[in-house]
Amino acid sequence: MSDDLLSLASRCIRCGFCQDACPTYKLTASETASPRGRIRLMVSVTGEGKSLTPDLIHAMDLCLGCRACETACPSGVEYGRMLEIFRHRIEASSARPRVQHASKAGLIAMMERPAAFAASLKIAAGARRVSGNDPIPSPIVRAITGGKADQLLMPTADLPESTSPLPEISPASGKRRHTVAILPGCVMQVLYDRVHRATIRVLQKVGCDVLAPRALGCCGALDIHAGFLSSGLERARAFLRTLQTLDYDAFVVNSAGCGSTLTEYGDLLADDPVHSYEARTFAAKVVDISTFLDDHGPLSFTGRFERTVAYHHACHLAHGQRVVEPPRRLLEQVPGLRLVPLAESDLCCGSAGTYNITQPDMAKRLLDRKVDNILKTGAEIVAMGNPGCMAWIQTGLQERGSAVRIMHTVEIVDAAL
Ligand code: SF4
Ligand code: SF4
Repeated sequence: MSDDLLSLASRCIRCGFCQDACPTYKLTASETASPRGRIRLMVSVTGEGKSLTPDLIHAMDLCLGCRACETACPSGVEYGRMLEIFRHRIEASSARPRVQHASKAGLIAMMERPAAFAASLKIAAGARRVSGNDPIPSPIVRAITGGKADQLLMPTADLPESTSPLPEISPASGKRRHTVAILPGCVMQVLYDRVHRATIRVLQKVGCDVLAPRALGCCGALDIHAGFLSSGLERARAFLRTLQTLDYDAFVVNSAGCGSTLTEYGDLLADDPVHSYEARTFAAKVVDISTFLDDHGPLSFTGRFERTVAYHHACHLAHGQRVVEPPRRLLEQVPGLRLVPLAESDLCCGSAGTYNITQPDMAKRLLDRKVDNILKTGAEIVAMGNPGCMAWIQTGLQERGSAVRIMHTVEIVDAAL
């Protein structure tokens, strides 16, 4: 894996074109908080025998993994892949304090289990209602953040009181053109069950039988992005084994973070003697809902959506999957919808998986910047394609007392279809 990292780093020609695209560099103007600086740090540890010092770990922790640097890079540096490898190295070493390592692992393990995640969100929401304050005690916050914060702004979402499981099979309305599978069991299910249901309705209307296999667990994206590569790959293998019995034309994803990892299964499992072929075949079928609908359009809208809408590019959609135009094209087709430009629409909002919890200060600065930009648009609704961004930006808007609403792109399509 060290060789992989050095060979990936060798593509960097140190031109610095990535610097201005990097959110943490924008806010700090520090070379070690930039992509070029972080690549240098990774090489210094991997190829030159430097140690994993607390400062170096902090520089890598401050990276959002947003991959805006990849989009900007003229040399094709796969920064996201390097970051996954290097974070794995940090977590597999004893360089991080054990309490912080364990709390980070525990946080991710909780988010990967829908029942545990839903229960903890409900407990946090209840405690917040009673106390009016942040319900997480300071010692826990300090353990998670490595002593960098005492308080957290917890992401909020309007959790449904109760949800019934998604139907495992939803037949096409009218003539069936495709059979597609979706990923039911992730963070999206807990935070935004309504988005899953809108996704199914829209897919049915464009002629799809929709499979939502309950046995599918987490795809491993949270683990892999956070440096727990071994457990993430174990999840990926289990995911593929569950899918073996299903027959489908496309695997349609409405969560950008998951979609980004699922499209990379072929690379992630390239050396796996059992799953490499299956992983490559599967990855070729993975498609974001916006691209799928864009490819199968034009859509036959029967209603209107008389709202002013701004669009926020989720990093793992715009940079991780290079899906930029399809969501905008879909929104532009919706009758009655007025799409307004959002400044820095592809700048990370600070959510970034567990980043808003582990790096609360930088996450909040990015959130404030995103909310400032949104409020300047005059939009009534901000559309996007990732549950983490939805919950985090909603939190920022609520904190300002704004009435601007957050919707997933597919919810808007659903409303007008
Ligand atoms: S733009 Fe690419 S090649 Fe240039 S410094 Fe950044 S990562 Fe390296
Ligand atoms: S992934 Fe994002 S935060 Fe990290 S170096 Fe690249 S642009 Fe900067």
